Amino acid sequence: KLEGRNSYRLYSVTLDAQEHLWLTMETALRNAIDSGHGLSLYYQPLVELSSNQVVSIEALARWHDPQLGDIQPSDFIPLAERSGLIQPLSQLLMRSLARQLRQWLDEGLQPPPVAINLSVQQFWQQSLVSDIKALYQEFALPKGILNFELTESVLLNKQSQAIALLKELRALGCDIAMDDFGTGYSSLSYLHELPITTLKIDQSFIQQLGDNLGSETILAAITGMAKGLKLKVVAEGVETNAQREALTHHQVDLIQGYLICSPQPAPAFSHQYLR
Ligand code: C2E
Ligand code: CA
Ligand code: CA
Ligand code: CA
Repeated sequence: KLEGRNSYRLYSVTLDAQEHLWLTMETALRNAIDSGHGLSLYYQPLVELSSNQVVSIEALARWHDPQLGDIQPSDFIPLAERSGLIQPLSQLLMRSLARQLRQWLDEGLQPPPVAINLSVQQFWQQSLVSDIKALYQEFALPKGILNFELTESVLLNKQSQAIALLKELRALGCDIAMDDFGTGYSSLSYLHELPITTLKIDQSFIQQLGDNLGSETILAAITGMAKGLKLKVVAEGVETNAQREALTHHQVDLIQGYLICSPQPAPAFSHQYLR
């Protein structure tokens, strides 16, 4: 306002451009979901430090649009949530994971459990548990092969309902990891009541290991607490051998990160890790 009419117009043009981009992306995402083209899952191994074996896998969504290029999941998952597309997107991704697992099993491979991320809206979908059961049936998947990762934001305000839902998932044999642990507002007071199996320490802590004494103190506190609560501890975003050594020293169970392997498309992943 102070700068007069011109700056107002500039501001409004930028907003319009932003809005236009959102609309373009939303239309493109809708088309990708309808056609099944451009959306896929990449796979990243989780390695057990004590055995050096790949004991589980995380599936991460990817979207390539011919016009827009590669779009990050941290952009298109929130877009899907805002535009009512999260349910069909979620179903497409879970189906493609189930189909991939069936294909690997049919090839005689023995994939370890694979975790998929659930956003807040995905977690609270009415049909979540029945959808998962249906996938197990349709693709004749072995019990416990599907795991889930969720963030603390899922639990805000609705703890008792969340606990009930988590119990239903656990009854299907699913491991459940609390993702990005340490970055949310989670009160530690209810952690012991949650039927989860795993704490996944956020990569921001891991990447500060070595140049920040505080992060090592937090790591020690998290692993100590997890032991007491009988939870597995995973470190994500492990990029250096120094980080790996610190994590071994603090008895972290599993590590995941570029040090081992970046997320890979299914054929490359199975070639390297399942054969
Ligand atoms: P996240 O679940 O915390 O996933 C970890 C992110 O770190 C992934 O980014 C992964 O590619 C990246 N990463 C793995 N190793 C390293 C490393 O050594 N260093 C660094 N700097 N990064 C590493 P990505 O794939 O871009 O996913 C970003 C976020 O998008 C995920 O964070 C997750 O919250 C969300 N997301 C991804 N796929 C899905 C999905 O299928 N469904 C839902 N709801 N969310 C998803
Ligand atoms: Ca995750
Ligand atoms: Ca994470
Ligand atoms: Ca994250």
